[in-house]
Amino acid sequence: MPKVTLKNGKTFDVPSGHTVAQALAAGGLTIGPDILAALVNGASTDLSAPLSHDATVEPLRFDSVEGREVYRHSSTHIMAQAVKELFPTAQLTIGPALEDSFYYDFAYDRPFTTEDLEHIEQRAREIAGRKLTVHRREMTKQEALEFFKARGEHYKVELIKSFPDGEPISLYTQGEFVDLCRGPHLPSTGHVGAFKLLTTAGAYWRGDERNPMLQRIYGTSFPTEAELNAHLARLEEIKRRDHRKVGKELDLISVQDEIGPGLVLWHPKGAAIRLLIENFWREQHLKDGYELVYSPHVARLDLWKTSGHVDYYRENMFAPMKVEGSEYQLKPMNCPYHIMIYKSHLRSYRDLPIRYGELGTVYRYERTGVLHGLLRVRGFTQDDAHLFCRPDQIESEVSRVLDFTFFILRTFGFTEFEVFLSTRPKESVGAEEHWTLATSALEAALKSRNIVFHLDPGGGAFYGPKIDIKIKDALGRSWQCSTVQIDFNNPERFDMQYIGEDGKGHRPIMIHRALMGSIERFFGILIEHYGGAFPAWLAPVQAIVIAITDHQREFVTQIVAQLKAAGFRVEADLRNEKIGLKIREAEKAKVPFMFVVGDREVQAGTVSVRGRSGANLGTMTVAAVADLLKAEVQRQQLSPTS
Ligand SMILES: [Zn+2]
Ligand SMILES: [Zn+2]
Repeated sequence: MPKVTLKNGKTFDVPSGHTVAQALAAGGLTIGPDILAALVNGASTDLSAPLSHDATVEPLRFDSVEGREVYRHSSTHIMAQAVKELFPTAQLTIGPALEDSFYYDFAYDRPFTTEDLEHIEQRAREIAGRKLTVHRREMTKQEALEFFKARGEHYKVELIKSFPDGEPISLYTQGEFVDLCRGPHLPSTGHVGAFKLLTTAGAYWRGDERNPMLQRIYGTSFPTEAELNAHLARLEEIKRRDHRKVGKELDLISVQDEIGPGLVLWHPKGAAIRLLIENFWREQHLKDGYELVYSPHVARLDLWKTSGHVDYYRENMFAPMKVEGSEYQLKPMNCPYHIMIYKSHLRSYRDLPIRYGELGTVYRYERTGVLHGLLRVRGFTQDDAHLFCRPDQIESEVSRVLDFTFFILRTFGFTEFEVFLSTRPKESVGAEEHWTLATSALEAALKSRNIVFHLDPGGGAFYGPKIDIKIKDALGRSWQCSTVQIDFNNPERFDMQYIGEDGKGHRPIMIHRALMGSIERFFGILIEHYGGAFPAWLAPVQAIVIAITDHQREFVTQIVAQLKAAGFRVEADLRNEKIGLKIREAEKAKVPFMFVVGDREVQAGTVSVRGRSGANLGTMTVAAVADLLKAEVQRQQLSPTS
């Protein structure tokens, strides 16, 4: 009799051959439609699977990653059944679950139209309504080959041929529909509540462009219509905030084919924001004890041999170029330059820590297919820094970096973080004692700041342990930005030294750290986080002064000059257009404030103030609006200790 252990620790015996569902029921659980499948000894399993060995059993619901995967995978089977019913000549290929959606690739002689999608979606709902029981059965490889050949499913036949001989092959059936599948699945098609087919795309069989083009349909599903609608609204919002779209609408950036893929042009308004970010970054680094440096965009290939990049990083680098008989390399990283600055003097233990910061532009080769707006590019500027310290200084340096990082990220409006501590991977360099020392220093730094963190065992770089910080944006999406990495390898490779108290040479510890990661990617995240409505301290134009008619031209010009002289980024709108249109355009440009001027305002020496969301903030003197802008900027710029 197999012994079943539940998550709450309860143990009991069940007769051999009892199903997972029966075991859960015996443990006191009511098996309703919310129970989708189960984890049996950690593996996602059908509720109908028989238990023959001792096992820990845990029910899976929609609130777990594994539960959602089963739910979405069953949804894609339902969609595939709908396609087969409506388009019997379409052949099945593969249909996996994605993070919050699913797709299925069909071999069909034409792309599916929007109208097709509506019919398929309708039919999928009907199939869910039929509440068909989902059965699993097994065949031998030979049986499975014959079975799918007879059904004309040639792609399934090709898949089965690639499977190892002698192992049973599983099929899932619901009504007339059969698919080759590893499972697990929901017990019934009736468990899927709400469907939405999202889009179609072409996709090559097995991702290989020499293979036939298949027709992919993407969809998503949720237990209730309300959850589905909330998800669809969020997708709309993500689309609305897409940095490529907003970047174009607000004329911030562009990536043009004539320049090259993954190479970003910063237009004046985007460049204005970048300048503000960089000025803030530099000012804060100088205050926090960093020294700022600059380094060239190319260096001798030999430098990158010493650093190990040629051996370990070559596929991410542009090809070297020949100059006067020697080879030069476009820089993929800034680290070796900072090491060479360190090495330009004899260093004593009293000189440490040394902190070099650089907004260093690097170039990395990425395949065209993976490039994406500002998020994945070929040329980008890292907000890089390298700290060189003694082993006994690691903890205090890392603590300091953590404080600084959270201050910088909070200033940009991020308030939720996820922190990971990654430890020694199998393939790595450096003495065990160094790894232990550095890892415990990182851990101690996190603990001293009461930072909750997840352990990522074996997730460190080959040269040292690291801390990664993910930020959550306004839509709840996580972005990996900041990283603090200990490095034992480069000090060794470059034979770095400092003279210790004992008068002997010692190896310094190197810490690589970036807070934003890269300016390009961080800017992409910022655009989506704010939806283009930048706070006053970052807005390229903080206020626009709008004349109602041509009569106010002189007064408006004078106000703009006055505010500009006081250091604000202000523009005039003197065009001969209707006031309504001017306001709408300023709102569309997401300018934080509008100062509207008519004859009455000219007489009183005031402006009428509007916020970008349409709020009427009343009439103010020029001195008062200057105070308003100043207060707004100060409110948004945190101080390092807040
Ligand atoms: Zn399947
Ligand atoms: Zn580095």
